[in-house]
Amino acid sequence: MTDPINPDLDHARQEIDDVDGQLVRLIAQRMAAVERIGAAKAAAVPVVDRDRERAVEQAWQREAEAQGLSKYFVGRILKEVLRYSHRGQEQFARDLDQAGAPRVGYQGVTGAYSEAAIEKLFVTRGTPEVDCVGYPSFLAVADALANGAIDYALLPIENSICGSVPEVAQLLTNRKLVVVDEEITHIEHCIAAMPGASLAGLKTLRSHPIALLQCQRAIDGFDTMQTEVWYDTAAAADSVAESGDMTLGAICSEDAARRAGLEVLATDVADHDSNQTRFLLIGKQAEPCGANQPMKTSLVFEVQHRHGALLECLQVFEDHDVNLTRLESRPIPDKPWEYMFLADIEGHPDEGEVGAALNELRRVTGHLRVLGSYPNRSEAPVAPPRPRLEAKKAESGAPACKPISNSKLPLVSHGDKLRSSVVTVGSVPIGGDKFTLISGPCAIESEEQVRAAAEMVHRNGARILRGGAFKPRSSPYSFQGLGLPGLDMLVEAGKTHGMPVVTEVLRIEDLGGIVDRADMLQVGARNMQNFALLKAIGQTKLPVLLKRGMSATIQELLQAAEYIMAEGNHRVVLCERGIRTFETATRATLDVSAIPVLKQRTHLPVIVDPSHAAGVRNLVVPLALSAAAAGADGLIVEAHPNPDEALCDKDQALTNELLGELVHGLDPILEGLGKSWA
Ligand code: PEP
Ligand code: MN
Repeated sequence: MTDPINPDLDHARQEIDDVDGQLVRLIAQRMAAVERIGAAKAAAVPVVDRDRERAVEQAWQREAEAQGLSKYFVGRILKEVLRYSHRGQEQFARDLDQAGAPRVGYQGVTGAYSEAAIEKLFVTRGTPEVDCVGYPSFLAVADALANGAIDYALLPIENSICGSVPEVAQLLTNRKLVVVDEEITHIEHCIAAMPGASLAGLKTLRSHPIALLQCQRAIDGFDTMQTEVWYDTAAAADSVAESGDMTLGAICSEDAARRAGLEVLATDVADHDSNQTRFLLIGKQAEPCGANQPMKTSLVFEVQHRHGALLECLQVFEDHDVNLTRLESRPIPDKPWEYMFLADIEGHPDEGEVGAALNELRRVTGHLRVLGSYPNRSEAPVAPPRPRLEAKKAESGAPACKPISNSKLPLVSHGDKLRSSVVTVGSVPIGGDKFTLISGPCAIESEEQVRAAAEMVHRNGARILRGGAFKPRSSPYSFQGLGLPGLDMLVEAGKTHGMPVVTEVLRIEDLGGIVDRADMLQVGARNMQNFALLKAIGQTKLPVLLKRGMSATIQELLQAAEYIMAEGNHRVVLCERGIRTFETATRATLDVSAIPVLKQRTHLPVIVDPSHAAGVRNLVVPLALSAAAAGADGLIVEAHPNPDEALCDKDQALTNELLGELVHGLDPILEGLGKSWA
């Protein structure tokens, strides 16, 4: 209908509508050309060609200037067009064979920002038809994914103003979620209310707490304004519409306002112009991605509880020129004041340096899990790699031995430089420049015995208490151990002196009960190649004392450690305890050379058990001293308050006096090596 009062206005509006239509058709034409380029590009050609983009940008700027337009605003439009183009090309790099519309869950109701993000992301992914399902909480979305009610979940992980979304971070660390994509959405909040309402008449604004936080300045600008927390921005809009209350407003997207039948009273009400939320798409399994796509990878890792541990992890990224785009620390629920980290890095593990960095990180962290790799959709430019600083990395002073890398044992072996991992048991470190004494009886025999043993070894400087509850005996008629009730006695005795405890696991069936009580799991010589047990132990989070089998080579010991680490548990301490040779003068032959050899081949701490090698107590001290001098990180020695009455390995049990002698003998050796007692 023409405006009878102002026909010029009417014409101008008509012209705008025509131009807008042409603009959309031109964008469609541009996208068709982009698709042809996408199809023509070889897989090895990256989607983002910075030089070409700079040339396009300059051409636009020249044209803008020639037309007397703002280079800034025209540049902004170009950026959006280019972003859309990248996605157009990606669609063609992707080979998606989706059966039916994928069901995608999100937290909120129709009109929520998450739903808009799903629509935007799935157009890019080549399946614009999606079935969006809203849930009341993030947990409900994760449950729906787990029980198959949905195919994907889209969860917000961070906002550019408010930071992390802790509930989602927690789900990522607790549940085995697989990240398959990301989306970044501009959040543009408006104030909406009943049709006919006015800003001046509003008394209460209702919205999601984060949205309220993001619009603090606008809220403070009112003389008096109540705020009301609602579980979702779109649901807040719906509730305002239902109330019919002219004094009630909602902070939500314009889309949500429109859907609810509300009138938009003010736009762009957030405190900051750039308000963006980053979402992660969680799937059921990892998905293939285009080879020419810039990628990102999300990880969660635990750092060891000691000085400089986090720095060591971050150094790995620096050493491999891997760009870290996000790092968030999260508490570890069962370990107060210890932390795990959620990190995002640029690249994919299949890219050489990224894969190498992750392997190295596995060596220096307590625990590492890759959450997934996905197309990098962030708008921040990818930082060019920095020149590598080889010279800076050179160690001062020549190392005692050269690292030996072994690509078949990526987790146990050193990377390109010597590293030493420290494994903490309770709060006691093993490795680094510390020397740790573990002592206690061969077997737990009674409450009284273990209490006296704990007191005795603690007095002599032991920091960790040992004791067997499940004993591997050569004869079925020998004492087999007290089982879990015995372990309870050991734990109790350890607690009295602040000592964590280590005990042997013989069978997978016993593992649960032992994990609930002990601080460290021992794999005995007889079980070093019980691969099912090693795998089960690898799935626990307790540190492991892995003894060398009595007929096992050093390589086989390292392979056994790799078994445990490959399951995710990297807290392994190796133990040389004597091997079978033709010599009969000792119970076994202590292989002192295994200590420096292991130090060359692995970053894991190495301790020595001289008791089972010697078999008799008067040889334990000299063997122990030789082990310390050869570079061991600690000792595990058997001691008994009354060796004559011991039910197990009585001949090799140290007395109080011999234990004292051992510690005095060690002092000058440790001083000479620059080590200190743990
Ligand atoms: C022990 O430590 O008690 C033990 C049985 O050791 P090994 O497995 O080295 O024989
Ligand atoms: Mn023993």
